[in-house]
Amino acid sequence: MKSHTRVVVIGGGVVGCSVLYHLTKLGWSDVMLLERSELTSGSTWHAAGGFHTLNGDTNMAALQGYTIRLYKELEEITGMSCGLHHVGGVTIADTPERMDMLKAERAKHRHMGLDTTILSPEEIAKIAPATNVEGVLGGLYDPLDGHLDPSGTTHAYARAAKMGGAEIETHCMVKETNQLPDGTWEVVTDKGTVIAEHLVNAGGLWAREVGEMAGVYLPLHPMEHQYIVTDDIPLIYEADKEHPHVMDPGGESYLRQEGRGLCIGFYEQSCRPWAVDGTPWKFGHELLPDDFDKIEDSIEFAYKRFPSLAEVGVKSVIHGPFTFAPDGNPLVGPVPGKKNYWSACGVMAGFSQGGGVGLTLAQWMIEGEPERDVFAMDVARFGKWITPGYTLPKVIENYQNRFSVVYPNEELPAARPMNTTPMYDIQKEMGAVFGQQNGLEVANYFAQGDEVRFETPSFRRSNAFDATAREVKAVREAVGINEVQNFGKYDVKGPNARTWLDRIMAGRVPKIGRLSLTPMLAESGRLIGDFTMSCLAEDHFQLTASYGAQDFHTRWFEQHEEDDVSVTNISDRRTGFQIAGPNARKVLEAVTRADVSGEAFKFLDVKQITIGMSSCIVQRVSYTGDLGYEIYTDAMNQRALWNTLWNEGQKHGMKPFGMRAMMSLRLDKFFGSWLSEFSPDYTAGETGLDRFISFKKPDNFIGRAAAEKEKAEGSARTLVAFEVDATDCDVHAYEPVWINGEVQGFCTSGGYSHYAQKSIALALIPTALAGDGNEAEIEILGHMRKATQIVTPLFDADGARMRG
Ligand SMILES: Cc1cc2nc3c(=O)[nH]c(=O)nc-3n(C[C@H](O)[C@H](O)[C@H](O)COP(=O)(O)OP(=O)(O)OC[C@H]3O[C@@H](n4cnc5c(N)ncnc54)[C@H](O)[C@@H]3O)c2cc1C
Repeated sequence: MKSHTRVVVIGGGVVGCSVLYHLTKLGWSDVMLLERSELTSGSTWHAAGGFHTLNGDTNMAALQGYTIRLYKELEEITGMSCGLHHVGGVTIADTPERMDMLKAERAKHRHMGLDTTILSPEEIAKIAPATNVEGVLGGLYDPLDGHLDPSGTTHAYARAAKMGGAEIETHCMVKETNQLPDGTWEVVTDKGTVIAEHLVNAGGLWAREVGEMAGVYLPLHPMEHQYIVTDDIPLIYEADKEHPHVMDPGGESYLRQEGRGLCIGFYEQSCRPWAVDGTPWKFGHELLPDDFDKIEDSIEFAYKRFPSLAEVGVKSVIHGPFTFAPDGNPLVGPVPGKKNYWSACGVMAGFSQGGGVGLTLAQWMIEGEPERDVFAMDVARFGKWITPGYTLPKVIENYQNRFSVVYPNEELPAARPMNTTPMYDIQKEMGAVFGQQNGLEVANYFAQGDEVRFETPSFRRSNAFDATAREVKAVREAVGINEVQNFGKYDVKGPNARTWLDRIMAGRVPKIGRLSLTPMLAESGRLIGDFTMSCLAEDHFQLTASYGAQDFHTRWFEQHEEDDVSVTNISDRRTGFQIAGPNARKVLEAVTRADVSGEAFKFLDVKQITIGMSSCIVQRVSYTGDLGYEIYTDAMNQRALWNTLWNEGQKHGMKPFGMRAMMSLRLDKFFGSWLSEFSPDYTAGETGLDRFISFKKPDNFIGRAAAEKEKAEGSARTLVAFEVDATDCDVHAYEPVWINGEVQGFCTSGGYSHYAQKSIALALIPTALAGDGNEAEIEILGHMRKATQIVTPLFDADGARMRG
């Protein structure tokens, strides 16, 4: 075994072997994998080997598509068989809501180039004769679905990696991982020590324990999972072709052919976490005892849906553990706060996702960034706040919901409330219906009178519609107040603060007392943040951005740190409110002795003033697009600030408003939001954020060359707004935009503008097709809706109120 290498990958399951292969594929050959037993010794060997593209997140679905297409390539390179069965698969729907979800998925697939089809019950019965279609409304067929041989596939990855120069050491247990002062890793094994520039944790079932060796907490947990294989079934072995996969979300089961019988697995409600206090090192190539009690209800349901199952015996039962993150997506990428430590863990569908995970990680390590937005599986999407106590109930909830309908407005109940602000009980008393963002309770809207304090999950307009309309009206006609807690906030200090910001942000760094909006770019020119930057003193700035991107942004700041600048995440320490609406200035004037008149406190000014008893930083800017102020203070002071603003506000018609109203208000101005319009999938030029880039500033900023190139050449696609002819359901995201009978683009987000009483969509379409009044159709839940491009904002088009 060699003593020095560029990369050590810990873990020889399907994920570790895929990472190893992709590192060699992208050009790094001095890489090695250490496996404590034989390859596949964790969850991999007993997997059912199924693969599919369906995933609520479009980028995850695209990576699953990549994984599936990769198997042929692996077979060709290695001459080994992955045991591929491309039999296709159908996901069935037995409720209108499930059918809505499948139609929404089908629509998304159109611009992703995935060739899925909606089938009628009769068509399902024909292609999947084991299915009793009674009560079935339809299904979604994907020809890419299938299954493979888990062990053969993992060994094919390993062989391909070796052919690219990688070394694999089996029966080599990693016992310690110590970071050396120069940032490299000392990997201590029972066969000796290796020094590696980079370390990849692909420890699967033991990823938590491997993480602990480096002082890293990875939020994942193993769950028990069971599938059964039946005796021979005549309907199956007499058929002239292999039976396709059938996913039955109503029965929480997946089914496929295995030999001459069937194989069926369940995501049962009475599920059980495994190894709560840690995965035993002695757990080897073994299974858990059969447990039919746990899946009794699921089996009963399956006997009705697939009657031939009831006619034969059980040949074998596979019951084993595998890991999940709280939201079911993998944990991939550089671990924040640990140089050269990479995660490839929490992969719950190794045969659908393993290839994409390997490719993403290898691109990140070798090229500096993955080619697409992978925030949905970025290990940095959870913050420092996450604990094992949160992870466990969330993982259980995720397992139970594996086949549930995923609604765009749904707020899941497990592990809540976790983090709350000092306003929580006051807002609750006022009727707040909360959602959770990055572990934080955030008011979505305020119910009144007998309105139920629960938003019905729906693809259509929900029961929050009237409350949202009320709150929007209060903002546009008087003044609204909501918290600014759910912004990520950073304090930037030091003699080099300005030069550092000039380099890291593409926009102009403001003068003292002013603020500016700025994109943050990767070298490739893709967006990795949209920030508000306020200059409090020559060497002191406040940055605000998305609350959910705290670790993602902090990791970037750390990767680009400079001497004599300190960047502190103060998201939970500095909080406060925004007030917005025509009466906002009257409220502010009444609660401070500072001059906040229109002349003294202009749009994009920032002031440090006292409000009531609270020392505040006030920014004259509002995401509502109205006359408004963001008022920040110390979290300990938030209630005092609330009392001051609220008491005075009552004289001016002040009402609280929540995130639902906020997202409607921003649509009036076509303002984009992080991870919808602004994400690492898009550039500043495409999304209009290039208007905030300072091409004149003398110093180089990250992404300058790419942004200048885009400016010179123009971008091929452009973010535009549509007014949509929709009556009961609005755009959420990724609906296809049809122009002249072809899918030409997709929606990034949308919703209902309560102010203008119009359904609005924001979408990326080819630049050549952008133009005021141009017509299109947007496919929402299977229906074509007429859509007309609009360029004039629906509210305050000339900005007179916002700037006045
Ligand atoms: C019953 C069942 C059915 C499933 N069916 C499917 C399916 O149909 N399709 C699908 O896509 N997925 C399925 N899965 C999930 C799939 O098994 C996992 O997604 C996949 O195996 C994860 O692979 P991994 O490489 O991340 O982890 P693992 O397979 O757990 O591999 C981790 C490896 O790391 C090694 N290791 C750990 N610590 C150390 C150390 N300190 N030193 C050296 N080596 C170490 C372990 O020995 C192990 O080999 C199923 C799982 C179960 C339990």
